[in-house]
Amino acid sequence: MSKTPIISKEKAEEIIRSFPTPFHIYDEKGIRENARRLKKAFSWNKGFKEFFAVKATPNPTILKILREEGCGTDCSSYAELLMSQKCGFANPEIMFSSNDTPEEEFRFASEVGAIINLDDITHIDLLEKACGIPETICCRYNPGGTFSISTTIMDNPGDAKYGMTREQIRNAFLRLKELGAKNFGIHSFLASNTVSNEYYPTLAKILFKLAVELQEETGVHISFINLSGGVGVPYTPDKEPNDIEVIGQGVKAAFEEILVPAGMGDVSIYTELGRFMLAPYGQLVTTAIHEKHIYKEYIGVDACAANLMRPAMYGAYHHITVLGKENTPCDHVYDVVGSLCENNDKFAIDRKLPKIDKGDILVIHDAGAHGFAMGYNYNGRLKSAELLLREDGSVIEIRRPETVDDYFATLEGFWNCI
Ligand SMILES: *Cc1c(COP(=O)(O)O)cnc(C)c1O
Repeated sequence: MSKTPIISKEKAEEIIRSFPTPFHIYDEKGIRENARRLKKAFSWNKGFKEFFAVKATPNPTILKILREEGCGTDCSSYAELLMSQKCGFANPEIMFSSNDTPEEEFRFASEVGAIINLDDITHIDLLEKACGIPETICCRYNPGGTFSISTTIMDNPGDAKYGMTREQIRNAFLRLKELGAKNFGIHSFLASNTVSNEYYPTLAKILFKLAVELQEETGVHISFINLSGGVGVPYTPDKEPNDIEVIGQGVKAAFEEILVPAGMGDVSIYTELGRFMLAPYGQLVTTAIHEKHIYKEYIGVDACAANLMRPAMYGAYHHITVLGKENTPCDHVYDVVGSLCENNDKFAIDRKLPKIDKGDILVIHDAGAHGFAMGYNYNGRLKSAELLLREDGSVIEIRRPETVDDYFATLEGFWNCI
């Protein structure tokens, strides 16, 4: 079982002549085709819209591609709102699903025409004070306890900081109605990176039942249900990916079973996917610069956890392809490491790979979401460039690499003291 690199060895060598490694590269064709599959899978719902979670891949070029495919954005900070606004997203294409929200960010969200998704009941008063209660408003729900699909526990909402309790969301709706809100939404995010066609349908059933109850209890008009993120991707090559068409049909069945009989067939379904939209369509390309033979065999590459933090942070698996050696037997066992003075800076541990030589180009898969974005500057390591492989096969730089000047830019008086 394997995963396919976006670029061949020859293409990589050509790119590297203009843009040295390490870099992230995104596949425009893959991104567009996937966004179209999602849209088609939910085309049974008249108001369906995907609000791409900006935090997954905060790059304006990517956001504009997704906007052309009919997506909006999901933001949770001032910078993400500003980026969305500058990319041309406007009311009602921006969702503001924040938590622990500063007052001025509510004000800015209102200014850019974002739909505000309240994480807590106490935010109602803050919002009213900041910018007034808008006609369209959403509340985030946390059912507590554990979240299971059939008998498997998927996650622990009871331990999560997000959302309102059942009683709070009812009271929040009553209060918001009193303050003039007219169109209500319900949002919930109960499990992350699910590789199961049952996640969305299971979540949808919970939220659809809640919507029927809340409409009865409070008399508000519920106009949308936001299933948020959490539809994931398989990072290991042996796992079957989610089938978005099956997922769409599963949500449709729940919709017809619960909402339609309650006279709520006009409810729009929203999603806030990040990982599913981008992870497989971005790869980190890096060059092997060292081999080291001590108690284990190490390959040192020119990327490090600053470029892709998931393995160091979560012990996450990311598949690796050695370009040009796709069909060479994996008869070596390596730790593939970066240069940070942190022993967790390892892209792979005890990984079976073909023999790697200095100068070999490695592709680290599924880095398109929560990859570059989580980067940091530990050890003075700089963030890499982001490139886009366009549909016509050309490659453009959509973010230049950081320089030391960027790294020093925030230091007061630094250049005077040296
Ligand atoms: C992170 C996040 C998402 C996207 O999650 P994925 O796992 O990338 O799909 C969506 N909505 C909210 C509120 C989030 O915090």
